Amino acid sequence: MTLMEPVVDVTGAEDIARDVVVIPNRRVPLVPNIGIIGGRDAVLVVETGMGPRNAEKVLAFAAEYAKGRELYLTTTHFHPEHAFGAQVFTAATYLVNRQQAQDRGGKGPGYLAMFSGLGDAIARELHGVELTPPDLVYDQSYDLDLGGRVVELRATGRAHSRGDQVVRVPDEDVLFTGDLAETGQFAIFPWFPPHDVDVSGIRWIEVVRRLAAEHPRVVVPGHGDPGGPQVLADVLDHLELLRDETWLRQDSAMDEQTIVDEVTDVLVRRRPDWEGRDWIEKGVRCLCAER
Ligand SMILES: [Zn+2]
Repeated sequence: MTLMEPVVDVTGAEDIARDVVVIPNRRVPLVPNIGIIGGRDAVLVVETGMGPRNAEKVLAFAAEYAKGRELYLTTTHFHPEHAFGAQVFTAATYLVNRQQAQDRGGKGPGYLAMFSGLGDAIARELHGVELTPPDLVYDQSYDLDLGGRVVELRATGRAHSRGDQVVRVPDEDVLFTGDLAETGQFAIFPWFPPHDVDVSGIRWIEVVRRLAAEHPRVVVPGHGDPGGPQVLADVLDHLELLRDETWLRQDSAMDEQTIVDEVTDVLVRRRPDWEGRDWIEKGVRCLCAER
């Protein structure tokens, strides 16, 4: 089990573009892909890892990489492995979109309790988490000038969560999607009624369609290996199939559990190598409720 503990390993960090580094999640559950984006004067860190100990490692790596350049931090959405380590970045400016800041303040404590109950390894990483507020909040879009490089922070509107944002590096055409895209696994639907029903399959499809139309050269997903434009095409294909297969059965007044079973079967046959099959059920139930 040691290998599957939600621990960030900075030794695997790799350059994916000029002055853009990813600390890959090595397909470890509850470890996100973490980005480091450099400019002449400043460095932006994307995602913290889960809890203060993971975030300390990310901060140490980023500080060494920055070599005295100013530090910024952003997170793609409020979920624990992406954002529950921000407290250690005291010397950095933490900036996010307004809706994400509201998610963090409103839903953060509930997620902290829920995730701490998921197992000892997770509870250990979450011990001592403080949901410190961001230093800077923007509404829809923010262009962060790192010196000779402007990074685009864009709120996408509700999809995987209410407060998703993507991070784009235009000069190298790199897109960090957070959990709007994963590779090697089924889309993560945090559908936890009655506590959290913010995820929207319908809006998610619209957001991914929009992002895919821009054909980014490099796509860094929330979890799984980075890739090219095909990453977004695959996610869109999956989400649309999930929607269509679910609604087709709902139209014939099939009971929800049978829909879950049948749609899971269809989707697993389409992507036999993908992990996270349990997320299909949550996706089906979300889309049933959205009809
Ligand atoms: Zn997430």
